Amino acid sequence: MTTLDIKRIDWASLDGQGRFDALARPSRRSERDVQDVVSGIFEQVALSGGLAVTQFAERIDGFKPRRIAITPEAVAAARDALPPADTRALRVAAENVRVFHQATKPEDTAFVETTPGVKSKLVWRPIGAAGIYVPGGTAPLFSSLLMQAIPAEVAGVTTRVVVTPPAKDGSVHPAMILAAAEANLDAIWLIGGAQAIAALTYGAVLDDGEIPACDKLFGPGNAYVAEAKRYAAALPNGPSVDMPAGPSELLVIADRFCDPEIAAADLLSQAEHDADAQVILVCERAATIDAILAEVEEQLTTLPRADIARASLSEARAILVSDMAEACAVSNLYGPEHLAIQAEDAEALVASIRAAGAVFVGRWAAETLGDYAAGPSHVLPTDGGARTLGGITTASFMTSMSVQTVTEAGAERLGPIAARLARLEGLEAHARAADLRSVA
Ligand code: NAD
Repeated sequence: MTTLDIKRIDWASLDGQGRFDALARPSRRSERDVQDVVSGIFEQVALSGGLAVTQFAERIDGFKPRRIAITPEAVAAARDALPPADTRALRVAAENVRVFHQATKPEDTAFVETTPGVKSKLVWRPIGAAGIYVPGGTAPLFSSLLMQAIPAEVAGVTTRVVVTPPAKDGSVHPAMILAAAEANLDAIWLIGGAQAIAALTYGAVLDDGEIPACDKLFGPGNAYVAEAKRYAAALPNGPSVDMPAGPSELLVIADRFCDPEIAAADLLSQAEHDADAQVILVCERAATIDAILAEVEEQLTTLPRADIARASLSEARAILVSDMAEACAVSNLYGPEHLAIQAEDAEALVASIRAAGAVFVGRWAAETLGDYAAGPSHVLPTDGGARTLGGITTASFMTSMSVQTVTEAGAERLGPIAARLARLEGLEAHARAADLRSVA
């Protein structure tokens, strides 16, 4: 067993640049290489459509894109292939995701009268077609299907196109079929990577049917998927995208009263995701850091994915701070995808947190519960995106628009104000359009 060499940092000893460096995300696969591969795929798909999509899918993943219809027979076969307890667990997770997203669906506001006779309100509408990427390179993340396709359904999106890579033997995991059934999807497409994102961007006619061009693209993924979403969003008339959702991150804030075994288990649950996953421990006491890291070492010895966790932990940091207020400040600077607060007064500390995708409060709130079944979507911004963006919600699949109504009396009152401001900006046609309604 190799000893862990987690980087320890004393926050007080760092200057501004040192602090910036301490919270930098780990360097990844050469960005330039990934950009070249992705732009090559998009250029070909723009030229030759479905033919190019099929060729890239065969070359990179070994299989043509395949449409899997979610028929009663397919669902029954998937159910037979899994222990009943797995099917029940999926159902509970799906129900909780649905209940949470229904309860948090944005509602139209009442009219607000800003000037007598001038009333406005906000109304919400579902977006057109949603392209939903479900990662599957190293593990079939059927939970990511629930966490996106159900909020989209609750939002009222009528066209939901779900894509996910085939397994190494070209098959699809039965849990993916059951998750699709729980989300009331008619079909899912077995195709992954940048070629899947290109198909969702341009639309593609394939042997098994047609993938329509989508209005907005959703979903986490590896470097190729993330770059493909960036590329798609930059195209003229291209789709919009949800957020940067790359390799997973967890920051644990722990105080001297935390249970080191629990804090260590949370850190490892993130580190086992993949070698690029990042974990950070922020703690007010050196002896507690020692205890948590000793626990990490201990628990690693029995972890099946210990090699992946070790690779991720080689980029981990343990940061010593002077108190919990400073711990919150460090977390806000980093803007983690996931934040776990293992502290005596965990709930009170939430008031000091400004930037995190999801916050897990106290001893019992394991991130794992949120990853699978608590209800909120686990698709969350990484790479500091949480400083300005939230994760996927029902609202992510909707747009709001203002609706404005004005009576004759309202126009008489507000018209001269608007016309005056229009002339101040030099926009005479604007002013006349207001005058026509307010000048008797
Ligand atoms: P993936 O589905 O994102 O990527 C697999 C695809 O990448 C393959 O199908 C292939 O087409 C393409 N690909 C792989 N190597 C390639 C190459 N050399 N050239 C061209 N294309 C290539 O699955 P993954 O790799 O397992 O990554 C999933 C990622 O999603 C992980 O980093 C995980 O941490 C992250 N994730 C993030 C969140 C979030 O909310 N932020 C949630 C779940 C998962």
